[in-house]
Amino acid sequence: MRLILLGPPGAGKGTQAAGIVKKYHIPHISTGDIFRKNIKEGTELGKKAKEYMDQGLLVPDELVVAIVEERLKEPDCRDGFLLDGFPRTVEQAKSLDKVLATMDVALDSVINIEVDKEILVNRAVGRRICKDCGATYHIEFNPPQKEGICDECGGSLYQRADDNEETVSTRVEVYLKQTQPLIDYYTKQGILITIDGQQPIDKVFEDIVNALGA
Ligand code: ADP
Ligand code: AMP
Repeated sequence: MRLILLGPPGAGKGTQAAGIVKKYHIPHISTGDIFRKNIKEGTELGKKAKEYMDQGLLVPDELVVAIVEERLKEPDCRDGFLLDGFPRTVEQAKSLDKVLATMDVALDSVINIEVDKEILVNRAVGRRICKDCGATYHIEFNPPQKEGICDECGGSLYQRADDNEETVSTRVEVYLKQTQPLIDYYTKQGILITIDGQQPIDKVFEDIVNALGA
């Protein structure tokens, strides 16, 4: 299955990705995670990406497309993949179409998780992530059993540098301007699935699985 997760920051893409990749046995490709890993490792790509991420702006298309193309050509993506946070502009979507065409494959579905703008800031500001396994929690909506500790692996939880109120607000605005046009783009391709992301996490997952019909 070749899938994209679309939705504003805080919609629940990463949370749902964890269940989807387990169920369909496909790799999870999050461009945000790739950039954060590069920042942690101090690479040139990480240094460049950080300038944009800290401001809540998109990293330029040419930096993003190349890393996704390389990743999609790895053997574990041969039978499917889940893209999370990519594409984020119409230019990126067009580049992705070209890459997939050269690989002689096509997308199956684009899962669009809808959440009202008003609740996104709360979701992102309360987000906590495990530094070891990347599991996602929320201090109020999905708290770990022991504060600050990951249920899955016992690692400690941290807050992303860009999950503060000001940066999240910018990221939501950037989404509305630069990424929302993709809803139209994929509707025209006939592969958009829209999911109500304001339900409990398990119900959102159930709706995704039912919509994928597999
Ligand atoms: P995204 O990857 O789209 O930015 P996340 O999956 O990281 O979003 O979710 C953002 C925050 O909202 C996290 O703290 C997560 O635990 C919480 N969250 C995710 N889905 C739901 C939901 N359906 N209801 C309430 N909180 C949720
Ligand atoms: P995310 O982890 O998806 O919330 O992304 C965090 C940040 O990484 C974004 O605010 C952007 O600065 C950057 N980023 C992630 N994916 C992309 C992308 N496809 N295009 C441009 N910037 C991206």
